[in-house]
Amino acid sequence: MSKVTWVYPKSVDELTECLKNDTRPHGGGTGFMRNVPQSGSLADLSGVGIASVRVTDGSVRIGGAATFTAAASAIAAARPGHIVARALYDAASPALRNRITIGGSLALFPPWSSVVGPLVALDAELTIVGATTGTYPVSEYIGNRELGAETAITEIRADASREWESHWYRFAPTHFNYPLFTVVVLTELDGTSISDCRIVLTGNRGRFKRLEAVENEIRGTSQPAVEVTPADLGAGFPDRQGFSGEYLTHLAAVAITRGLRGAERNAT
Ligand SMILES: Cc1cc2nc3c(=O)[nH]c(=O)nc-3n(C[C@H](O)[C@H](O)[C@H](O)COP(=O)(O)OP(=O)(O)OC[C@H]3O[C@@H](n4cnc5c(N)ncnc54)[C@H](O)[C@@H]3O)c2cc1C
Repeated sequence: MSKVTWVYPKSVDELTECLKNDTRPHGGGTGFMRNVPQSGSLADLSGVGIASVRVTDGSVRIGGAATFTAAASAIAAARPGHIVARALYDAASPALRNRITIGGSLALFPPWSSVVGPLVALDAELTIVGATTGTYPVSEYIGNRELGAETAITEIRADASREWESHWYRFAPTHFNYPLFTVVVLTELDGTSISDCRIVLTGNRGRFKRLEAVENEIRGTSQPAVEVTPADLGAGFPDRQGFSGEYLTHLAAVAITRGLRGAERNAT
């Protein structure tokens, strides 16, 4: 029988105190469903006051306990077509999106994450409390397990001051499957010239990759004729869900090329 106990912190200070006592944050609980804890304690984040979502001209601020649905609807209301809102609306199913939290998703970072690609592409930052306290780039947090130890994510901040054209692609055999990879392409135009560009792939070996060499190649060019090849993706993909790694790597290169050529772009 499970010996898990629950605690119900009512503020960030109380949460910080809880984390000292072998207590893990509980966001939506959808990750815990796959790996049910048998001991220790769980801190229910719903009363901490970290579930709000605020969008201004300059930034998107998402509380660590905000659900995908809450974050997607608040962001889409203020910034229709924003890459974060589109990616969140595309994840899982409506019932799951009502439970999955942004903080839980970044802490768990499954290969099928819908949040990591957009947040890394936007150079987002997050704030953690607990054994380590501070604000870090999302890309640093997900690459450094120590930052996730005995900490809780209280807020994520992404820049919203720039006018990106964005492309989002999520590859899953059926919509309800876990996606095998995601692609984010952001381009900023100056007339017909691409003044800046960000390309992020997730789900690959190494978990995520920013394609900086390709970004450098197309900055300053007009609509690029560049064709992204499997070699540009570095280590590529392992075999997964009945697809060979070679096929997934080829498909991801095609998805990025399509994004760069302007397919299905939205303003972000
Ligand atoms: C059928 C199905 C399909 C799915 N499809 C997608 C998809 O397409 N895209 C996608 O992005 N996700 C998808 N998910 C969700 C994903 O697999 C995880 O379940 C989810 O990201 C976990 O978030 P949570 O809020 O439920 O975390 P929880 O289950 O509450 O916690 C997961 C882990 O994160 C920690 N944690 C929770 N909150 C915080 C916090 N604020 N700070 C620090 N640590 C925290 C916990 O201690 C735990 O270790 C799917 C899930 C299911 C069941």
